[in-house]
Amino acid sequence: MPEPGFPQVTVVSKSKRVRCSSIHLARLCDRFPWLSVRHPASHDASRFGTAVDKQVSLVLSCIAAGNTADLPSDEELLPETSIILDWVEKNYPLEVWEWHVQHHVQLVDPESGEILTEGTPDLLFLHRTEPRFEDVDMKSEGQMFAGYLQKPDENDQQLSYVTAYWLEVSKTRKIESAKIILACWGLRGVKPLESQPITEQRLSEVIETIRAIPPVDPDAPQPEASVGSHCLHCWQRGHCDEHLLPLAVVTKAGLPVPYAEFVGGDLTAETTVKALTWLEGAKRILSEAKKIVDLVEGNADAFVTQNGAVTVGELMYGPQEVKGRKAGATVATLTKEGLTRLIREGETKVKCKFYPAPKP
Ligand code: SF4
Repeated sequence: MPEPGFPQVTVVSKSKRVRCSSIHLARLCDRFPWLSVRHPASHDASRFGTAVDKQVSLVLSCIAAGNTADLPSDEELLPETSIILDWVEKNYPLEVWEWHVQHHVQLVDPESGEILTEGTPDLLFLHRTEPRFEDVDMKSEGQMFAGYLQKPDENDQQLSYVTAYWLEVSKTRKIESAKIILACWGLRGVKPLESQPITEQRLSEVIETIRAIPPVDPDAPQPEASVGSHCLHCWQRGHCDEHLLPLAVVTKAGLPVPYAEFVGGDLTAETTVKALTWLEGAKRILSEAKKIVDLVEGNADAFVTQNGAVTVGELMYGPQEVKGRKAGATVATLTKEGLTRLIREGETKVKCKFYPAPKP
């Protein structure tokens, strides 16, 4: 869900602490928080907040505040909204739990008083009589696939919310445990993933982790990038020059021109469609280029095989013995030989690919 309460960064001369939703990537790459301060609008939540998220927040806030005047009618409710509302009412009845919807939290360092991070959890349910609360993060099935999701027990963003809220509530009443619930919703219902109960001891670890991430000075030189598989889920990727191809290189290679329309810009649905269209053209050119590479390489190999090695700068190019790669039975051979017990089922993975669009 979006974080409407989080202030947009406009002051560029002041160092900023990382926000809750950025902690995980900030731990993996120093450049990420620096880019996040310079391009706050690229945040994932602003890209993936849905009409259902907004409706759920509105209805739950109205119910929590006893405000029936602003409640949408049953006919106005989206089917998914009704599914989520039923789930919340069944698991967190209002007479047992206090509902705190989109409640902005600040994690204040208990030693220095500095605000270490801040953000807005989707839903906080505080038990009315027992010393515990639950932090619920709503995720659509699409969001589950779109973003890298840390498991509830190690989810940096939700752990920072829990720590901040725990310290806030502890000013007025005792808290002994909390839980994180990642609730994945779709038309087939809500599937919750739960953390183990979180105890007070864990709070110090969370605070230590966030303290270790230095504040970001957007005027400082660009920090070094740490490229890895996490880049796939980085919402600053569109601004990170580790992943940008200079336009001059593209033009020189004769690749399709529309690349200029999305190079260096924000990653949005529109620029992604342009990028995919461009990729199709680029792949055709690369496949033609590969044929030329094979042809030239084949001619060079034929010459040195027949006439001996040639000298290229400081290197020689000619026939050399190389160790062959190990090979084994293929699935087709094993099936033919009746050895199907040796064939493992393919593991289901999420992969981005083209597929037919639903008919309108
Ligand atoms: S794309 Fe990768 S290297 Fe670039 S800022 Fe994001 S995490 Fe760091």
